[in-house]
Amino acid sequence: MNELIDAHGRKVTYLRVSVTDRCNLSCRYCRVKDMTFIPHENILRFEEMEQIIDLMAEMGVRKLRFTGGEPFARKGFTSFLRRVRARHPELGLRITSNGTLLGPDIEELKELDAMMNISLDTLNRERFAAITGKDLLPEVLANLRRMAELGMKLKVNAVAMRGENDTELPALAFLAMDHAIDVRFIEFMPMGEDSIWSNDLFWPADEILASAREHWELIPCDESNRNLEERGPAKLWKLKDREGRLSAGRFGLITSVSHTFCHACNRLRLTADGQIRTCLYDDREWPLRDVLRRDGIKAVRRVILDAVAHKPVGSDILARSSGPVAKKRMSAIGG
Ligand code: SAM
Repeated sequence: MNELIDAHGRKVTYLRVSVTDRCNLSCRYCRVKDMTFIPHENILRFEEMEQIIDLMAEMGVRKLRFTGGEPFARKGFTSFLRRVRARHPELGLRITSNGTLLGPDIEELKELDAMMNISLDTLNRERFAAITGKDLLPEVLANLRRMAELGMKLKVNAVAMRGENDTELPALAFLAMDHAIDVRFIEFMPMGEDSIWSNDLFWPADEILASAREHWELIPCDESNRNLEERGPAKLWKLKDREGRLSAGRFGLITSVSHTFCHACNRLRLTADGQIRTCLYDDREWPLRDVLRRDGIKAVRRVILDAVAHKPVGSDILARSSGPVAKKRMSAIGG
């Protein structure tokens, strides 16, 4: 089998595909002053994405995630998923979504055995509207409840922001108590040219952990029998409450800033306009779309190999910088 191995010996097995840069929300950490979108003709068509996914699967990709913008904001997304599932039953389908628009598709997502990551920073309705610009928390909670009832594989991701949602740790983590949901706090990354990121807003994982320990005993999950490809970069714990009750789901931390996992990074990102990005923190892009449209899929292979050969160690970029590390906003990359 083909393998994609970079100059640092890391094997690339995970492709994150941003299917659109458009979103129905406008979250504080994603929002920029000049919000322009990629022109329609520059967005990869679903058939083009399918060609690239076919090729990447042949080159060693084992894990796929669809993101955006908001993936469910793109018309035809679920039919596209169905086609990918039929062509690649061996690749798990993972989706990152804000959970507001997927209601009508839940049964189909269940049938496709999609693994869902729902981004949810708060359980307070006013705060949700303030962070996202829309009063849609009830929709997200109804959709989460439905997916949990259907026994779908569910994760909730909250961007950890001091002074914004630090008081909500117990409420958010409590979602993992009764439901088989993994609730993970993601460290706020200094991404995007006019990001609101600041040292004051940054809530480091060690402090989040200390805060969680005020409410629960944290039982580390032994993930040593699973490789990084399967388990991802989150550190995970079961929660034990004062009555000795163990959580159904898990509590997790993604320490993308304070304890980076770049040495083991296995990811490539495909942006909605068909560029390969090899690292969240690096602005260099490899133009798959233009090569595909001009020279066909065979020529794309060379571009992918070149991109992988130049994949940097993101923590080096982070260490060299004192401010935001990438110009592109997160919604244009996919997170
Ligand atoms: N619309 C989808 C959603 O809300 O999940 C997918 C796109 S969104 C850009 C993907 C993820 O990136 C979300 O979980 C979001 O919270 C996260 N994100 C955006 N900016 C971030 C930042 N600066 N640091 C950490 N996570 C960030």
